Amino acid sequence: MFDYVLIQEQKVPVTATADIVVVGGGPAGVGAAIAASREGARVILVERMFCLGGMMTGGLVGKIAISHRNRGIAAELLERLDRYQGTSFVQSRPETPIDPELAKLLLDKMVIDEAGVDVRFGTTLTQVVKEGRQAKAVIVSGLNGLQAIRAKYLIDCTGDGQAAFLAGAAYMLGDEEGGLGSAPSLLFRVARVDVDKFINACEEDEETYKSDRTRYSPREARELYHSDRYVFFANYMPLVRRRIEENPQMFSEWERQVLTTRGLIFLNQPQSGVILVNSTRILGFHGNDAAELSSAMVNGRRQVETIFRFMKTFLPGFENSIIMDTGGMLGIRESRRVAGDYVFNEDDVSGATRYEDAVLSNNGGIEIHSSTGAGLRGTRLGQDEYYHIPYRSIIARDFDNLFMAGRCFSASHAALSAARSIACCIAMGQAAGSAGAQLVKNQKTNTRDIDIYALQEKLVNIL
Ligand SMILES: Cc1cc2nc3c(=O)[nH]c(=O)nc-3n(C[C@H](O)[C@H](O)[C@H](O)COP(=O)(O)OP(=O)(O)OC[C@H]3O[C@@H](n4cnc5c(N)ncnc54)[C@H](O)[C@@H]3O)c2cc1C
Repeated sequence: MFDYVLIQEQKVPVTATADIVVVGGGPAGVGAAIAASREGARVILVERMFCLGGMMTGGLVGKIAISHRNRGIAAELLERLDRYQGTSFVQSRPETPIDPELAKLLLDKMVIDEAGVDVRFGTTLTQVVKEGRQAKAVIVSGLNGLQAIRAKYLIDCTGDGQAAFLAGAAYMLGDEEGGLGSAPSLLFRVARVDVDKFINACEEDEETYKSDRTRYSPREARELYHSDRYVFFANYMPLVRRRIEENPQMFSEWERQVLTTRGLIFLNQPQSGVILVNSTRILGFHGNDAAELSSAMVNGRRQVETIFRFMKTFLPGFENSIIMDTGGMLGIRESRRVAGDYVFNEDDVSGATRYEDAVLSNNGGIEIHSSTGAGLRGTRLGQDEYYHIPYRSIIARDFDNLFMAGRCFSASHAALSAARSIACCIAMGQAAGSAGAQLVKNQKTNTRDIDIYALQEKLVNIL
C-alpha cells in the first residue's frame, strides 16, 4: 500500500515582493541578478548555500572556461578576480584558473554591494505557487520557517531545474535514448605540492609519466607554470597501472577501478603549491533523487581518499602534500533540463547555427563524460567558429513568466555539454535577467512579448 501524510492547508506569510526572483546563486543566477538589477528591476536572489558562485565556489570548479570573445559579466568577473588574486591568469583565456574563496568575496561585492540585489542565503525554494501558466509566488524555507515571496518573473538558475520541476513544468533527463547524462565528479584541492619536482620527474622519465591528454612537453608545462598560465596535467595511465601492478596489496578491486577510470587529472591554482584534482567519477548517476545524490557525495569522498593516497605515495613532489578541501557540493555536470519553446541540440553546435532570436554566441564543443565508464566524447570548434543560443531555449514551454538559465536550460543531453561552461551560464543568466527587466519595464506579463531587438542591443555576447 502507498504510504503518505497529509499536509494541512497553511497560511504562509508573504514577506517580500520583487519584480524578479532568481532561484540559485551559481554562475547563471549571478549573471541574471546583476543584469536585471543593473537595468532597474527589483531583484531577490534565493540561495540555499551561504555563498554565491554555485559550482564555481561551493563545488570548487576552480577554472573558468571562457571564449576569447566573451565581453559580458563573466569577462568582468575574470578581470576583477585576477586583480583580486594578484595574478595574471586572465592571459590564459579561454581557460582561466580562479580561487573559489576569493570568488566568494568578490561575488558578494558585485551582486550585493554594487548591483544592489537582495540576496537571501540559507534559503531553499520548496514550492512554487501558480495560477494557470503564471508562477505567482515562491515558497522558501529558512531560519524563519516557510515564507512566500511574490514576483512578476521567476528565473530558475538552480542547475537542477528545481523551480520548474516544483512548478510542474516538463523537463528532460539523461540522453535521448533514455540513458544517463554526463557523470558527476567531486573536486578536491591538494596543498603543499612541489609542482616543479613533479614536472622534473616527467622530464626525466617521459616513458613512465606519459600522458595521453596533456597538450605540451614538461618543459612547456614548466614555462606556463612559472608565467601564471593554466597548466593541465593528465592522466598518467601507464604510471597508475604500473604502480598498481607493483603493489597489488595496496588497493582493493574498487580502488583499482577508481584509479583507472580517469587516471590522474589536475591543474594549477592561483596559490603556489596548490592543485585542483578532477579525477573522481560517479557512474550510473541520474540526478533527480535526493538519496542517490547523498550516496554519490559519499562515494565521491571515498574516491578522493583513494586518489589522494595514490598521489602522496607515488608522485614525486607530493610527499608533503595534504588535502586542502573537497567540494561542498557534488560536481554535477547534468541533471534536469527544463523543456523550453525550443530544445537547443547537437546539430545547432556542429552546424554553427545562427538564430534571429539569439541571446548569446558560444564556441564550446561537445564534452560528454560517460556515466558508464566509457570515457570522454568530445568535439572542438575552431577559435572563430560559434553558434547561437536562442531566446526560445531560456523560456519555459509550460509557463508564461518562467525563465531558466545555466545548466538547466532547454537543451539536449549532448548540446548541454557544449554550453555548460561557467562563462556561458553567466551569459545565459545575463540574457534572462536583462529580458525580465525589459518585460517588467514594459509592463508585459509573458516572456514571449519580448522586444528581441531591444534585448539584443543590451547583450554584448552576440556575434
Ligand atoms: C566536475 C565539473 C567540472 C567542471 N569544469 C569546468 C571548467 O573547468 N570550466 C568551466 O567553465 N565550467 C566547468 N564546469 C561547469 C560549470 O561549473 C557548471 O556547469 C556551472 O557552474 C553551472 O552553473 P549554474 O549556475 O547553472 O548551476 P550551479 O553552479 O549548479 O548553481 C546552482 C545554484 O543553485 C542553488 N540551488 C539549487 N537548488 C536550490 C533551491 N531549491 N533553493 C535555493 N538554491 C538552490 C545551488 O546551491 C547553487 O548555488 C564543471 C562542472 C563540473 C561539475
